[in-house]
Amino acid sequence: MVIRRFLIASVLSVFSMVAAMAQMAIPVDDQVRMGKLDNGLTYYIRHNEWPEHVANFYIAQRVGSIQEEESQRGLAHFLEHMAFNGSEHFPGNGIIDFTRSLGVEFGSDLNAYTSIDQTVYRVCNVPTKRQTALDSCLLILKDWSNGLKLEKKEIVKERDVVHNEWRMGEGPSQRMITRALPKLYPGSKYGLRMPIGLMSVIDNFKRKELVQYYQKWYRPDNQAIIVVGDVDVDHTEAEIKRLFSGIKLAPNAAQVVAEPVPDNNEPILIFEKDLEMPVNQIYVMMKTEAYPDNEKGDINYLMLDYMTDVVCSMLNARLSEAAQEPDCPFVSANSDYGQYILSKPMDNFELSIQPKEGKDMESRKAVRIEARRAAQFGFTGTEYERARADYLASLEKRYTNRDKQTNAFFGDQCRDHFLSNEPLVNIEFLHSTMSAIAPSIPLELVNQAVSELISVKDTNLVVLEFAREAEGLTYPNEAQMKQAIDAARSAQIEAYVDNVKDEPLITEENMPTAGSIKSEKDNKQFGYKELTLSNGATVILKKTDFKNDEVRMQAYATGGKSVYGEKDYASLKVFDELVGYSGIGNFTGTELQKALAGKNCNADINLGLTYQYLNANSTPKDLETMFQMSYLYFTALKKDEKQVGNLMSQLELALKNKDLQPTSVLVDTLSYVMNNGNPRFMPVNINDLPSVDYDRVLQIAAERMRNASQFTFIIVGNFEEETIRPLIEQYIASLPTTGEKADKYREVRTMPKGKVKKHFTVETDSPNAYSIIVQTTPLAYTLENSVKLDAAGQLLSQIYLATIREEESAAYTCGASGSFNLSGDQPYAILEGISSGNPDKNARALELLHKGLQDNAVKVDADALAKVKEYMLKQADIDFKSNSNWINIISTWKMRGLDTYTNYKKTVESLTPENMAAFIKQIIDAGNEVELVMTPVAKTK
Ligand SMILES: [Zn+2]
Repeated sequence: MVIRRFLIASVLSVFSMVAAMAQMAIPVDDQVRMGKLDNGLTYYIRHNEWPEHVANFYIAQRVGSIQEEESQRGLAHFLEHMAFNGSEHFPGNGIIDFTRSLGVEFGSDLNAYTSIDQTVYRVCNVPTKRQTALDSCLLILKDWSNGLKLEKKEIVKERDVVHNEWRMGEGPSQRMITRALPKLYPGSKYGLRMPIGLMSVIDNFKRKELVQYYQKWYRPDNQAIIVVGDVDVDHTEAEIKRLFSGIKLAPNAAQVVAEPVPDNNEPILIFEKDLEMPVNQIYVMMKTEAYPDNEKGDINYLMLDYMTDVVCSMLNARLSEAAQEPDCPFVSANSDYGQYILSKPMDNFELSIQPKEGKDMESRKAVRIEARRAAQFGFTGTEYERARADYLASLEKRYTNRDKQTNAFFGDQCRDHFLSNEPLVNIEFLHSTMSAIAPSIPLELVNQAVSELISVKDTNLVVLEFAREAEGLTYPNEAQMKQAIDAARSAQIEAYVDNVKDEPLITEENMPTAGSIKSEKDNKQFGYKELTLSNGATVILKKTDFKNDEVRMQAYATGGKSVYGEKDYASLKVFDELVGYSGIGNFTGTELQKALAGKNCNADINLGLTYQYLNANSTPKDLETMFQMSYLYFTALKKDEKQVGNLMSQLELALKNKDLQPTSVLVDTLSYVMNNGNPRFMPVNINDLPSVDYDRVLQIAAERMRNASQFTFIIVGNFEEETIRPLIEQYIASLPTTGEKADKYREVRTMPKGKVKKHFTVETDSPNAYSIIVQTTPLAYTLENSVKLDAAGQLLSQIYLATIREEESAAYTCGASGSFNLSGDQPYAILEGISSGNPDKNARALELLHKGLQDNAVKVDADALAKVKEYMLKQADIDFKSNSNWINIISTWKMRGLDTYTNYKKTVESLTPENMAAFIKQIIDAGNEVELVMTPVAKTK
């Protein structure tokens, strides 16, 4: 690859220290037990105790849809489905049933994916308390590797499920990418191997064809077993050897060979349109040969990663700055470096663009010019300093948190090592190496790399546009697309000037006079300290060791949107976004981003219905900046017309044609029905935008935040008290107060009463129907009710999956959930079920939604409930170790006097089939039900 060779050459000639390191090999993480059996099977085992007492199991296969013959298109993915429908040791739905009995949820923790060149199965978050359960998970992997039954009757059932999955994905993007792919890969199999395949194959293939694919490609030499978590490594290794060594590798097994992607000398120009595409999207791709797998073991590879990282981040900052100019033709644009669409052998530098309406050509040209400006003049010293500081700050953050890396992170790392030879590098090594290398790579070297990365030539250039089709619109032909490229190439350009504000967030003369901590008391129940400050604000401090690199803060006070009336509805709907795009203190939004380079902290204001919030987070190192930002959000929000102008164009574009998407119509209709048509609660709409008043938003923000004495600040995470106390006195105790009492909420949500039925059709080319049923009832917000409501949702999800999806193939997606609406004095329980899939079977799906609910109000299956309880108990262990969840626990306690922590597990354990059935009956008996059915009808063009 050009860049790689270039890098090595430059590094060698100029910088001897870096050059010497570049050639060094990256050591494989010694925490991983790795091995290969005689039959070619690779395994990885890593002991990890974060979180404790659980483990993840994976089998990764180096094959996918690219291995299919023309007559087999879709079989790789179909086979993945069959892995859950009967195997040697787990007949029928045995795998789903067995893992659920361990508290492992199908869909989230038990799942798989098929892509073009890999197929990966996983069982995650398995409790490790019983060794036999872990051994059984290895047996599942073993069955997946070569023990699938692929029974005829199961194949027949699954054809419908996969067909439904195809329906789900069949939106405008899917249709256009399927049409574009053969042109993106002329003369290559990659153009014809979308994993979902052809429905003609899915509906008609013979069993033996599936068996053939399975036997030909699922072989030990294409497979890796990965186990990460709180496991005994020696025992696991012995078990893997025992289970997998006996599998024979056929002597003449077909080899996985890389499918070539040909170069193109002339630019590939593709334009696709669709009636349901809401906004236009343009991609400019510069293809380049991928870094060879067998050379990824050198530090050189890490350097390439660093270079592409900083180059993209610098260019992205420029693109977002450019988008704020009112006459800029695009609303947003972004650059990225990585795999070219689907194909591992080919990488690309990609620019993705969202043009303003009617400005496609100008956008393509403008973004190309920005890229050319970077390639020709390079970046400036100040831009590079910020990008490098950001890179090092995120590296530092990972390093600080090194003993709290999740099983999922390590699992993915092992998978990528097996499939693509990505470095299996430990964070200590990465941190020490890159902390030394990054500062010694000078700007000149980065700028030379930019000119290699961003090609201005036609060779290997690909321009792709997905556009909205509508009457009266005109579309470019290839010649016009080419013209935009040539125009960008010949345009006169100048170097970029970096405007930076060189001053602290809060200057010496603006530094507030510190207040003090007036009193404090301990709370034993939740293990926190409650401070009362001199200005009347309350601060709650809970120190935790869940994450070494995290401190979270939430401040809240009552009032929220409910305080404001109808003329402010439009502004309130986009309040959070407008405030987020504003500046603080002396800094505009863009200046603030530049000033925060190298820092890991953030803050923003959100307006809920009955509360206003400030949310902030930081690493321990950047705490003071977090406090300064928070102080400024309370006292000095700054108008930024340019950024907000850009935001308004983004919103306009996103909202203008959103009703072309059936799901958006569904969500809006549901919202209308559930809120009795109250305009306050309608989602933001294109017609709202003219009434949005930015000055009014700033005024409301100032009004909501002006009285610190009404606020409670909850701070949870890894902080030192002696560091945080002075910061609290300096930046929270100093916040202004007004002496007013807190606002009580005024208007809250009301739920529809009685039975409400809404069946409607939507014109669409996406063949997907939806059924939704929602039960609501006024209900006391207690721990018991909240646990039961959650359990009821999970219970019904299980039932719906088994009946609607598995037994009747009436939907691909179905599920249920229970939640509380807590606005106002009267809490409401909401229990909803949803299914989406084949329109011909939608009536049946609706019937089954109702039936599941009715049946469970009479009798709850003990087995199903036991699985729900197991899952909830396991999830509680994870949630009780999360800082953000602790903010919820404490705020629920402070706001509503409800302890959702102390007796949580006891309450889950007290659930019985009888009390659950009675609970579901109570909800149904309230008699409030919304039934929503949306059916597609063909478009009348
Ligand atoms: Zn699937």
